[in-house]
Formats: sequence, structure tokens, C-alpha cells
Amino acid sequence: MAKRDYYEVLGLSKGANKADVKKSYRQIAMKYHPDKNPGDKEAEAKFKEAAEAYSVLNDEQKKAHYDQFGHAPEGGMGGSPFDGFGGGGFGVDLSDALRIFMDGFGGGGGGGFGDLFGGGGGSRSRGRARGSDLKIKLPLTLEEIATGVTKKMKVKRFESCADCDGSGARDKASKTNCSVCHGRGEVQQVSRSMFGQFVNIQPCSNCDGTGEVIAHPCKTCNGDGRERKESVVSAKIPAGVHAGNYMTLKGEGNSARRGGQHGDLIVLIDEKEHELFIRDEDNIYLELGINIAQAVTGTELEIPTLTGKVNLKIPAGSQSGKLLRLRGKGIPRINSHMVGDQMVKIQIETPVKPSKEEKELYKQLAAYYGSQKSKGSKGSIFRKIKSLL
Ligand SMILES: [Zn+2]
Ligand SMILES: [Zn+2]
Repeated sequence: MAKRDYYEVLGLSKGANKADVKKSYRQIAMKYHPDKNPGDKEAEAKFKEAAEAYSVLNDEQKKAHYDQFGHAPEGGMGGSPFDGFGGGGFGVDLSDALRIFMDGFGGGGGGGFGDLFGGGGGSRSRGRARGSDLKIKLPLTLEEIATGVTKKMKVKRFESCADCDGSGARDKASKTNCSVCHGRGEVQQVSRSMFGQFVNIQPCSNCDGTGEVIAHPCKTCNGDGRERKESVVSAKIPAGVHAGNYMTLKGEGNSARRGGQHGDLIVLIDEKEHELFIRDEDNIYLELGINIAQAVTGTELEIPTLTGKVNLKIPAGSQSGKLLRLRGKGIPRINSHMVGDQMVKIQIETPVKPSKEEKELYKQLAAYYGSQKSKGSKGSIFRKIKSLL
């Protein structure tokens, strides 16, 4: 399967400039982002394809090389073109693609910052197949986000077979060198183009890049070297994360066949809706209903926060809509010492079904206001509305 031309992937004409490359990549990546197309393999492939094209065309040196030589064997790509996608797939896996996207656009406006731990690229061994990456969504409460949390997640994945230690062979003697690649695990393909001759190195398909064939496969895994299992993986999530942030847990994805490298586990952070609080970046908002007497005379009330209850003073003469600030009771900003605030919006509640006694008291108040012709809050006041919301 031949790779598509990088310019074609991004819908551009040959030699397009950097700004066009960036703009076009952004559009395509947003459209095919896995968050927007859950479970859609085709979209994921397009997302990865665009990321690879972008990572080459956005890099001056790689672009120049590509413009001159096209998809040459040592051409361009930073990552290894031999990663475990088989069948002439692309050299970029999902975690690489997400990282490229985040590096390019910083998470796309949601205050995101991409990989929480920077991922770290990582060199991959040649030839040997690598297990595929897994993705898991991790919903967190605002309380967990405010303090940071260690989460245990159940992950269904391929793990090394315990009976053969991942080798796939019943015993050591049942392994022999692969006759196709002579134990090297790689095969060379020579191709010609108008620029000359290229040597393309690919994992050997006869031995899956292991360099060995198995005469007597392990009975437990039928020579695959791995078993499907459900395991518990824990991730330490720092305080202040946002929905859309992700974390790459290296080597926690699927194991490869016959003892290759493990894939990664990509943990995508999601934010659960809270029954009381709304988050705005580092701040959280709460509405507090109080009665007219509390608003007029002022009071002190116990208020919930993300980390327990605190007392809040309501000043005398508080109006509906007034915002009171609880400093430092919001959410910490990631990688910083700053902590947001909790904002409490006052809402004065008018009694809907006043009791007889209440009515009596309000009548007295009305009579009082009627007698105070000159001062403040007695009759009707007309003002222009400040905002229609
Ligand atoms: Zn086995
Ligand atoms: Zn081989």
C-alpha cells in the first residue's frame, strides 16, 4: 500500500507554504479528532495521516527533503516508520498523532496543554513489532480535579503469556531462525524512481519481525505470545486538569506478538458535571439563595466548597446578583502555584407561599415604608436595564 502524498493528504498543492500547511492541518485534525469520532477507525487513520504529513511539512528541513525526494526510505519522519501498524501503515501512532496535534495547537482552546507528562517521544526498536496503543476515558469529579487524585482503571489488553514468557514457543528448542530474513527480522525491498534507487526496510512478515519461527507453539497462547486480560492500571492525575487533557502511560498498552515492545495507554481526562458547582477555568461558581431578612441585616452561613464546608459572611444590604469571593477555594492551575477562587452569587428568594404570620409582618413593613415618604426603598423606582440577560 503506497503512502499518499503529504500535500495531497492536507489538500494542498505541491510546495505550499508553512501557514497554509498549518491552517489546513488544523482543519483536518479538528474534523477527524478521535474525541469527535469515537470508535471511528477511518477517522483515526485520517487523523494520524494528517499528523504525519504535518510533522514533515511543518519542519523546514524535513519539508525540503520531502520536496526533493518524496517518500524516500530515510525521508523525513522523526518517528520510526516501522511501528506496529503493519501492512504499510503510517509511521505515526495515535499517541504521536495526539502529541503532534497538541504541540501544534495547545489543546485547541480549552485551556489544554496536551500531554500532562510531556510524553517524551521515545525511541523505538527497529523491526520488532510494537503492540498497539490503547485509549481510555477517565471521568473525574471537580473534587478530584481540585485536589489531584490517583485513579485505578480497569484495562482490557493483551499481556505477555505467562506460560511461555511471551515468546510463543513451547520451549527454547522449538525456536529456529527465520529462513526468509535469516534471523534479522527485517527485509529489504529495492524500488526505483526517477530520483534513483531506494532501499526500503520493513519488518519480516514471515516471523513478524522477531527473526525466529516457532516449530512447537505454546499451547496456552497458540504461539501468539500473549493473552487477553483485564488488568488494573493506576494513574496519578495532578490537580487542575481539564477535559481533553491526556496522559500517555508508556508501555501500558497492548503487548506485541511474541515479546515485542508494548504499546502505550492514553488516558483522556473528562470532567463530570457537578450538582452544585460550575467551573470557569480556575474559578468555580455557586448560587446561594437567601431570604430578604438575611439580605437586609446580613448573616453568616455555612457554604460548601470542593474541599469541605466554610463560613461565609453575607454583608448587610446585599443585593440579588452580588458576587462574593472565597479566595483560593477554586481549582489549582496546573504546573503553577496559582489557585482559583470560589464565587458565590447571591439570589434573594421572595416567599412564594408566605404564612399568615409572615404576611402580617410584611404588611407592617409595607405600612412602615408608606410612612417614610422621603427616604430610599419605599415606592417604585424606574431604571434602564443593564443587560437583557
Ligand atoms: Zn504462551
Ligand atoms: Zn523473518
